[in-house]
Amino acid sequence: METSKRYIDDLMTFMDKSVINFFAVKTMRERLDAEGYTCLDATAKWDVKPGGKYYVVKNHSAIFAFAVGVGGATAGYKIISAHSDSPCFRIKPNPEMVSGGMLKLNTEVYGGPILYTWFDRPLSIAGRVLLRGENPLHPKTRFIKIDRPLLTIPHLAIHFNRAVNDGNPLSRQKDMLPVIAKVNEAMEKDNFVLRLVATELGVEPDEIIDFDLSLFDTTPACLVGYRNEFITSGRLDDLSMAHAAMTALLESEDNAMTRVMAIFDNEETGSGTKQGAASPVLDHILRRVNVCLGGNEEDYLRAIAASFMVSADNAHAVHPNYVEKQDPTNHPVLGGGPVIKINANCKYMTDADSAAVFKTICDEAGVPCQYFVNHSDVAGGSTLGNILTSQIDLRGVDMGNALWAMHSVRETASVADHIFAILAFTRFYNC
Ligand code: ZN
Repeated sequence: METSKRYIDDLMTFMDKSVINFFAVKTMRERLDAEGYTCLDATAKWDVKPGGKYYVVKNHSAIFAFAVGVGGATAGYKIISAHSDSPCFRIKPNPEMVSGGMLKLNTEVYGGPILYTWFDRPLSIAGRVLLRGENPLHPKTRFIKIDRPLLTIPHLAIHFNRAVNDGNPLSRQKDMLPVIAKVNEAMEKDNFVLRLVATELGVEPDEIIDFDLSLFDTTPACLVGYRNEFITSGRLDDLSMAHAAMTALLESEDNAMTRVMAIFDNEETGSGTKQGAASPVLDHILRRVNVCLGGNEEDYLRAIAASFMVSADNAHAVHPNYVEKQDPTNHPVLGGGPVIKINANCKYMTDADSAAVFKTICDEAGVPCQYFVNHSDVAGGSTLGNILTSQIDLRGVDMGNALWAMHSVRETASVADHIFAILAFTRFYNC
């Protein structure tokens, strides 16, 4: 009971700190540092030892941690993958726009958010800022998270659109722009964001070369439900799975195989970046670990053949107002345990072999598990598993905990399921 409470308190703190991809990675880094993991520099020679614990960060937005097994170069890897990004709004360059006496910001939609959930929220800004450095190839990076509500996207009053509740198509360019200030005479509107960021960071505006800044909802995570059985927060997809993977990695013990946590970026836009699952980043890391263990190409391929991946990305729970949307016989419920994702057209990497592995692991962990299969008239989504198998010849399963309102600015999940996922992942790493 005590452990369960600790896991959930820790999840809520993690969610509140991890307001966008860069901060999810920063939060995980800090935790790994505190637990004795060594940060490896991709440009340096690695000295990785059996029993050692390491991590690598890519682009400040993807993180790969591994606890090296003691079974040698052919023992293989047990991998849990998830993603650091969530749908949001990204601030465009030169974003300042004045309209109706207000300063608003020009933004671009990242991924596929449910747009209208972003209206009338206390929003703020977070991201990374690149400052002039000694070497043009290596600008300095600073992170910024403004911890007070700073913007809002006000909805149009119903009096101007009586049909709003009958379906209301939204323009990403017109309807979704956030307001940051009332314009007054003393205010310099030019480079407002740049100067705001410079002040927050304590630097001169002309030191800033560029930025990746996004909006986030400042409302913290909380428990809801008669028995506090649900958790509601932004970005549960997929940071709840990233948190479960990290917790399991830290709770698990050394064994023959190397335990890997791989948190990629840009899943929401198709994974096609250097820090995404369609890149060779994980293959390169696993190869380098193998070389450090004395392996050659043959040993590496043997290790990969012996490996298994759990691709952890959230699934859809049956929604009490829309039960007809789900498959008639396979509809995961909140609180019913981790969900194995199945698709006949191979949108998911799961097959009977890999599902059997994961079901056995859940069984051994004393955790229930359930299936998600699309209603046959609904197209459904895809995730990391298959994309990764185009890079690495891996056996594995697509799974994830069930959610309501995936891609809403606030999603709802089950407290019990989060504990179940941590227990199942820990068992996987220890098996
Ligand atoms: Zn996801």
